[in-house]
Parts: sequence; structure tokens; C-alpha cells
Amino acid sequence: MIRDFLDPNLNFEKINQIDSSCVMQTYTRQPIALVRGKGSLVFDIEGRKYIDCVAGIAVNNVGHCHPAVVESIKNQAEQLIHVSNLYYTSPQAMLAEKLVSITGMDRIFFCNSGTEAVEAAMKLARTRTGRQNFVSTYGAFHGRSMGALSLTHKEAYRNPFRPLVENVDFVPYNDIKAVSESVDQDTAAVIIEPIQGEAGVNVPSPGYLQEVRRICDENDALLIFDEVQTGFGRTGTWFCRQHSGVLPDIMTMAKAMGGGFPMGAIASREDISFGKGEHASTFGGNPLACAASLAAIGAIEDENMLERCTRLGEYFMSRLKGMSRDDILDVRGAGLMIGVELGADCGDIVSYGRENGVLLNCTSDSVLRLVPPFVITEEQIDTVVDTIEQA
Ligand SMILES: *Cc1c(COP(=O)(O)O)cnc(C)c1O
Repeated sequence: MIRDFLDPNLNFEKINQIDSSCVMQTYTRQPIALVRGKGSLVFDIEGRKYIDCVAGIAVNNVGHCHPAVVESIKNQAEQLIHVSNLYYTSPQAMLAEKLVSITGMDRIFFCNSGTEAVEAAMKLARTRTGRQNFVSTYGAFHGRSMGALSLTHKEAYRNPFRPLVENVDFVPYNDIKAVSESVDQDTAAVIIEPIQGEAGVNVPSPGYLQEVRRICDENDALLIFDEVQTGFGRTGTWFCRQHSGVLPDIMTMAKAMGGGFPMGAIASREDISFGKGEHASTFGGNPLACAASLAAIGAIEDENMLERCTRLGEYFMSRLKGMSRDDILDVRGAGLMIGVELGADCGDIVSYGRENGVLLNCTSDSVLRLVPPFVITEEQIDTVVDTIEQA
């Protein structure tokens, strides 16, 4: 007899009431409770259906509850859910081999989130270079733990928690001169999102990442690409760095990695890897997470989703550019990572979307960030564009 832990009588009001009294109120949530997802759709507890252009914030790349991911999690859950990294497991070995292949890097360290990946990258950069300083960018988001927060630019996130890791220089994004003035022989690493996510889907000019690579090389500083948001096909290639051809020394990944299951990792060059005892994680590379990730990566391959993401991204962007709204300042992005910059706060559009069956996200106050699952259809994209236009 299996006990059902979910009270069947829960409704939105009751969930909201429990949340208000029991959960730390860190999030500003949309007033709906989601119970089910399928592909690019999610359903709330009242049975309403939504086209999901948030996708767990660039997490559900292969769609909600992709059958291959569900099957893989079920099978692995019946075999082995967790053992310590004191032992080898086949899902971890197989995933490491796969990640080496799709990242173009040499070695993997597994963790459980994007923030942890950034922490690992910082520790790795310090220990391999023997240097302390980091260079990050204006608008950068790298996570909220003390180390990762030190590389995150937003003052409102940082200020209450000082002192942070000192030795971080922030330079304007997409400004080569600023990087060259800031990087020197004391710089351990420069960390960059190849397209900035939280800052509003900022795409750098062609040549920028190449120049940053050159400046790092000249100063024997490491280059870290934070691909937590841009990874696993989001921009139409496995990793966003591929558009530039630039190989970093360390790459961070998480979000879409597990097809919705929480996990993260860093990939690095052979000569810039952790040695025995230098870092560790209880859950990192856990068999269940690795099984989920193998299935999610497999789905992208088997269903040609990189190509689909590129094609639908172009379609989506051209439809957005053709909208008859006079408050749109810019439409930008790559693949299905698209930002629509509006002249003003986009909270009202998010509310209108939700009331009309489309989940939208607003970042950096005035940028609609559209990051739907790759299985979204052209028809659904049309509905999303019509809804934004009418909002
Ligand atoms: C989301 C994000 C992070 C933090 O990841 P978490 O899994 O929330 O810890 C770090 N870097 C980038 C670029 C992100 O988008």
C-alpha cells in the first residue's frame, strides 16, 4: 500500500495559505499552483492550461515530463537512487563521457546547481593559478552563495551580505577595452556569460569573446564561461560558446542539464582540473540525476532539437519583430533564448499573459525573457506573439 502524501483537497487558496505561513517569503510568485506539465504546456490546480515560455527559467529544454526523461528516472529509481562518491557508478561515468564529448572540454566535476558550479569554478581558478582576483561584468548573474554572489553584479543582492569575496573587478559587458584594462598578472580568471541571461538577454558583439580569450592568454589568466543558462541547446548549439569558436578554460553548467532534475557541473581543461581532495559534493553526480541528464541529452540528439531550436528561434524572433507595439525597443537573442526589451516595466504583460494562458517572465525590470521548451510549436509561438501584442 503506497501512501499518497498529497492532500487531494488542496486548492490554490489553501496552498497559498500554507506557503504564507510556512515558507520563507523569498519569492514573488505568480498566483497559480501548477500540478502537471506536458511538452510546452503546464496545467494549474484549477485545470487551466498555459503555454510555458518560462520553462522553469531555461530548464525544461526538452519539454515538461519528456517521456525519455520520465522513463530513465523511473528505471534508475528502481535500481539505485544514491550512493556516495566513495564509489563508482555507471550513470556518472556515462554522463561524464557524454559531457566531455558535447562540451569539447577534458574533465567534469559534478555538483547540484548553477551556484555550486560557479563556486567550484572560483575555487578551481584560484588553486590552479595561485592568484586571487576575478573579473566579472556589469549585469552579471552567477548565483547567490557567498562566492558566486561576489561575482554577481546587482547591488541589491550583494549589499546585505558584505563582506563578500573581495578582489572582484566589474567591467561593462561587451567592452573589450575595459577587460584589457582590468586583467593583469594577478587575475585568476575572467568570468563571462556568453549571452547574459538575468541582465536581459544581452548578446555581445561578434569578436568580443575572442578578444577576451586573447587578453586572458596574454596575462595567463583563466577564462570561465558561465553556461548555466545558455547550455544544453538553449541558443541552438550544445553550448553558446560554439557560436564564437572560443574554448574557455572552465565552463559551468546546470539549469537544463537534468531535463528538470536538479544538477550542475563544471567542465575544464586537462591541465586545469581539481586533484585529489580539492573539492567534493555528497550528491554531485548522483545516479538518479545522471540518468535524468543522459535521457535529456539523448532526447536533444534523437529529436534533432538543436536544429529545431535554431529554426523556431528565428521564427519566434521574426514574429516578435513584426509586432505592432510601439513600446518595443529591441528584440534579441539566439536560438530559443530571446529578450524583448520594452520601454517600461513588463509586469503587466506577464499578468495579462498568465490570465490568457501564456506564462511569461520579466527580467531586469523591462525585458521579457522568452525561453520556451524546444518542443514548442509554430502555432503556439503564434499564440504567444498574439498575446504579447494584445497585452
Ligand atoms: C541561474 C544561473 C545561475 C545560478 O544557478 P542556480 O542553479 O540557481 O544556483 C548561475 N549563473 C547563471 C548564468 C544563471 O543563469
